[in-house]
Amino acid sequence: MPSPRPEGASAYATRFAPSPTGLLHLGHAYSALVAAERARAHGGRFLLRIEDIDTPRCRPEYEAAIYEDLAWLGLEWEEPVMRQSDRRAAHDAALKRLGEMGLLYPCRCTRGDIRAALSAPQEGAPVIGPDGLVYPGTCRGRALEEAGAGDALRLDMARALERLGRARIAFTETGGVVKEPSEMSAAQIIEGIGDVVLARRDIGTSYHLSVVVDDAAQGITEVVRGADLFAATFIHRLLQELLGLPEPAYHHHRLIRDEAGRRLAKRDDARAIRRYREEGSTPEDIHRMLGLEAADS
Ligand code: GLU
Repeated sequence: MPSPRPEGASAYATRFAPSPTGLLHLGHAYSALVAAERARAHGGRFLLRIEDIDTPRCRPEYEAAIYEDLAWLGLEWEEPVMRQSDRRAAHDAALKRLGEMGLLYPCRCTRGDIRAALSAPQEGAPVIGPDGLVYPGTCRGRALEEAGAGDALRLDMARALERLGRARIAFTETGGVVKEPSEMSAAQIIEGIGDVVLARRDIGTSYHLSVVVDDAAQGITEVVRGADLFAATFIHRLLQELLGLPEPAYHHHRLIRDEAGRRLAKRDDARAIRRYREEGSTPEDIHRMLGLEAADS
């Protein structure tokens, strides 16, 4: 049970939502520190959520390292921490609702099948969306009742937009690092994003579905995350509308890059927060490296 909010306190709530598939690096530190600072500035809440649905890649030692590294950085968050792997029933219920709306279909295409279908002469140049190649629609005619263990479930994007009767999908961006408009027309969404997977065959859910269901469950009013997820936000807004979930604002922040200008990835172990720590850096050094004001002590 959440504790009652003190009178006059802000309803602002944000979160840091790492996946325990590797050690946190400088990019994660930046995300967590920006989110916590925005919560502080708004007199609101800073929550943590462990995004551990990708079970084959998640490890308990990485989850333990997340808590340790964040605490070392000086962050505090509310307990209990939400773990996405405990939320399966809520993810399933959302999926069921979308299925009942007639918006899902089973898909057995492999990446190779998709590439082959897209290389057919009648297809134009393949489009890369937030989830990779935009799906050519091969399985779109299949009925949901046919879904078997080897199938993923995809969202029929054109139908979803039609159901909402929306000519465009928009969101409120408070970050401002991304210069693209935070609105897309239905045609742009169909062509540029397409029928995304909402339930992977291996884990039965997906990042997109779980993130919207769990942001709503945690009462998140502003999602703070890297600019790499900007385009995915159109999918999230669409799912929120379909599922009748509240609309948070989005704050996409700049990405932390290495000297070659590449975005940091979990495999960049050299940038792991704990490597800096082992080499004698202090949390203040990390703040400075990230171009953030050192936290008040
Ligand atoms: N779990 C995602 C990641 O680690 C974060 C997603 C989000 O903030 O929406 O990249």
